[in-house]
Amino acid sequence: MLQNLKVILDIQELDMKMIRLMRLKKERLKEIEHIDSLRQELQKQQVEKQDEIAELSRTISNQEDKITEIKERLKKLETKQNSVKKVDEFNALTHEMTTSERERIATEQITSDLIDKRNLEEEILGKIKESLEQSEESSRNLENEIKESIRLINLEGSDLKVSRDEMAKTAEPEVLRIYQRLLNNKKDRVVVPIENRTCSGCHIALTAQHENVVRKGERLTFCEHCSRIHYWQESAAIEGTAVATKRRRRKAAGV
Ligand SMILES: [Zn+2]
Repeated sequence: MLQNLKVILDIQELDMKMIRLMRLKKERLKEIEHIDSLRQELQKQQVEKQDEIAELSRTISNQEDKITEIKERLKKLETKQNSVKKVDEFNALTHEMTTSERERIATEQITSDLIDKRNLEEEILGKIKESLEQSEESSRNLENEIKESIRLINLEGSDLKVSRDEMAKTAEPEVLRIYQRLLNNKKDRVVVPIENRTCSGCHIALTAQHENVVRKGERLTFCEHCSRIHYWQESAAIEGTAVATKRRRRKAAGV
């Protein structure tokens, strides 16, 4: 049975690499999303500010029309006043002119305030445009860098997949199927050694009896706590797998 696990252990190493790669890719994609959302936020602010300024300009133009109207009215009143003879008519016109004059001053004041406001908004718009340009400039480099790293991840991923598919052909289908189901579930190593009579997947202590069964290696043995498949580290049967090589290397390095 352990013989069947040998190839699964090697497949598992590739799958772990693939999971790490996909996590990395996800992170990098998130970074791109973040850059995008910052830019979109600035673009949104820019559009809103432009709309606001356009609305102000319309109001200002209406106010200016109103001022022109009042001025024309005043001119007509003045002409009329020059031609009247009666004092009370003259006075009535003077009163009307004073009212219009007040209206003109008030309207001009409102218009001037609106123009001040528009100048201020245009200044803000300028700043938004500036930071948009800056962020586009700086994010473009970062974005290219991230895209390149995603391209490399994809390359490495497809290489991994080829090796994995090749290896999977040599695995015992039933064991592979069980392994695959566990892996999909846990997204983590699911064929794990027993260490100090403890499952190295869930770190829960195991019985001596369970350890003995695993040590014999006659059948697939699952952790009763986390359902992972157990194997016996020292078993000669796993010699030659990636795990054994790694262990040897660690030993050689004195780790
Ligand atoms: Zn466990």
